[in-house]
Amino acid sequence: MPVVSLNMMKRWILLFWFISVLSACVRVGTETTPVPATESTSQAWWRNAVFYEIFVRSFYDTDGDGIGDFNGITQKLDYLKQLGINAIWLMPIHPSPSYHGYDVTDNYAVNPQYGTLEVFKHFLAEAHKSGIHVIMDLVLNHTSNRHPFFVDALKGPTSKYYDWYIWSNTQKGSNWHQVTGATPKFYFGLFCDCMPDLNYNNPEVTAEMLKVTNFWLNDIGIDGFRVDAAKHLIEEGDKVENTPATHEWLKGFYTAYKRQNPQAYTVGEVYGAGSSIVKSYTGNQLDQVFNFEMASGFIGGASGGSNSGINSALKFSLQDMPDFNFATFLTNHDQNRVISVFNGELGKAKVAATMLLTSPGTPFIYYGEEIGMSGVKPDEDIRSPMQWSNQANAGFTVGRPWRMPNKDYTFVNVSAQQSDPESLFNHYRALIALRHEHPALRSEKINLLSTNNPGVYAVLRTSENEIILVIVNLTGETVSDYALTLEEGVLTKSSYRAESLFGGGQAEGLNGNGGFSSYKPFEMLSPYGSYIIQLIP
Ligand code: CA
Repeated sequence: MPVVSLNMMKRWILLFWFISVLSACVRVGTETTPVPATESTSQAWWRNAVFYEIFVRSFYDTDGDGIGDFNGITQKLDYLKQLGINAIWLMPIHPSPSYHGYDVTDNYAVNPQYGTLEVFKHFLAEAHKSGIHVIMDLVLNHTSNRHPFFVDALKGPTSKYYDWYIWSNTQKGSNWHQVTGATPKFYFGLFCDCMPDLNYNNPEVTAEMLKVTNFWLNDIGIDGFRVDAAKHLIEEGDKVENTPATHEWLKGFYTAYKRQNPQAYTVGEVYGAGSSIVKSYTGNQLDQVFNFEMASGFIGGASGGSNSGINSALKFSLQDMPDFNFATFLTNHDQNRVISVFNGELGKAKVAATMLLTSPGTPFIYYGEEIGMSGVKPDEDIRSPMQWSNQANAGFTVGRPWRMPNKDYTFVNVSAQQSDPESLFNHYRALIALRHEHPALRSEKINLLSTNNPGVYAVLRTSENEIILVIVNLTGETVSDYALTLEEGVLTKSSYRAESLFGGGQAEGLNGNGGFSSYKPFEMLSPYGSYIIQLIP
């Protein structure tokens, strides 16, 4: 079983590590006793992180121009600390002709609408002081068509930057965009004519982008990158995603950015990836990749009231990536907001959050998700201003907001939810706190339990010293017809008492002897109820 083999592997690794440290000590003739690796130090920082994705334009405006800014995030750090997140992903912060910023015109500068580089550095220093890591979008695949490199490249083969982009004399498909009066006449831009693809077969382009990563990691001090459109970097013939050339390029990229900063973290956007595709990118190309299969499992479980989707996603992961070294989420800035997918049903939002925040993998929360902000496409409406209060413009700005907030801000807002113990905000807050407090809830070890009822999701989460049981009623009905069964020999003691960590109530203990069967810690599970209990021998 994956759990057993992982345990074994970990012990072997620990043993070899111990022997090598010991022999190193002998060699240098010191009497230093090696400090045993603990669960927290044996893992990279991002494995203990809970990330929060921020669209700066929509987070908080401090100067009244209706556009969120770096000072706005600095001012709201206390809110983020209260929520409990310890890492931030900033969507693109560079100068750009668009509102979203994914078409960059200068990779070394910040968007003046958001503040100066000095103001950004102040935000970064304050975040670091609060123990919050900060990563930002790195848009490798393309530049803006208004980037000085591309503008120069339009001069034709005489330009230094001509071969930094991809050209054709003929129209080869809808991703090829015509240039009037230029020779050759077409350039490749996978997403739009506004975003010409960079040519990573040209080593000068690679060198330039590594200069960019070094600037942000070492001159500015950020902690890593979310790599936009990672699967699209190099096309081969008609193949525009997951090409061998892209994987090869990322291997060189990995070596290079780890040399620039060994603690730097990258998380790749490989849209739609499940565990098997995620696996093909991790280890020596990107530190983690977003797992869309897990996201569909969480959302499908909550919206459909059935554990089948999330159980299969977990089984695929146990099979393909038993170390669960990937990023998890519900929805991001490219998808309809999760509460809208659930037609506004708060109970569903709560159970989806429970599954996300008690699963292995590094969870990412999209700003506003924690208060149930709604939004369906067009894109501007899934990226609308954060709803801070019931004041004008949702308390986002005293000016005229770049986009109007959702009309529901009068009752869906941070201020109202902070004081309501039953709010979605306090649900997220409590679960994030539990995840930080209990290594078992963020470890890679998970056992799926059979529940004898598809409306009930249950997993056992374990670490070296903890055994925690998570039970979720995915339905809007009270459930008494369920029974938990674990066939594998994870529980080594004969009996356990149960201590409730979340969801309340006095839970029944159980007899272990390896696994267990027909265990009912509670007679009844309330509609959309989440229960977390620790089993103590
Ligand atoms: Ca502003």
